[in-house]
Amino acid sequence: MKFEAPVLPYANDALEPVISQKTIEFHWGKHVNAYLTNLNKQVEGTQFEDATLEEIVKKSEGGIYNNGAQVWNHIFYFNSFSAKRGTKPSDELMNAINETFGDFESFKKEFDTQAGAIFGSGWMWLVKDENNKLSLIKASNADNPIRQNLMPVFVADVWEHAYYLDYQNRRPDHLSSLWDIVDWDIISKRYENYNAIELKKL
Ligand code: MN
Repeated sequence: MKFEAPVLPYANDALEPVISQKTIEFHWGKHVNAYLTNLNKQVEGTQFEDATLEEIVKKSEGGIYNNGAQVWNHIFYFNSFSAKRGTKPSDELMNAINETFGDFESFKKEFDTQAGAIFGSGWMWLVKDENNKLSLIKASNADNPIRQNLMPVFVADVWEHAYYLDYQNRRPDHLSSLWDIVDWDIISKRYENYNAIELKKL
């Protein structure tokens, strides 16, 4: 297999009760696995056979793009959390959040409001541009902002499969509880050192 899922850096029950072990088993274990299997099949014999996942996300179209972006997005998403609780953004990231959103609470509220308003399946991205300015991007289906030369800092998966087992139709409850498991040490490093190294590893 060309592309393989990395091992998650935490146990399947480490994010409970926000994301249950059962959701990790289905979401990471089955949904992401299906995207990977499809991607590996679809790149065979195409110009993307030897491409990196990042190149696929930036340049491909159709099924290869959908599956490749879903793999990238999920690896990024699942690596935004940890068993740690109570981490905080670094000073540098907090300054950027304050500059764009006013303060940390307003940022989280705005993120949740926009994520809640995504119609159907998609992703809510926090990104930075080449001037380190933060913004929010609402994306449908598999869409990934690296295609617009924006650098992802954090993302929430708003596909129903991300929360249905634990929250059923209550997407807002899922989103507001996600903040309890976000590892701001990881997010801060992405913001401060982002130079695509993380992407190239995928
Ligand atoms: Mn998902």
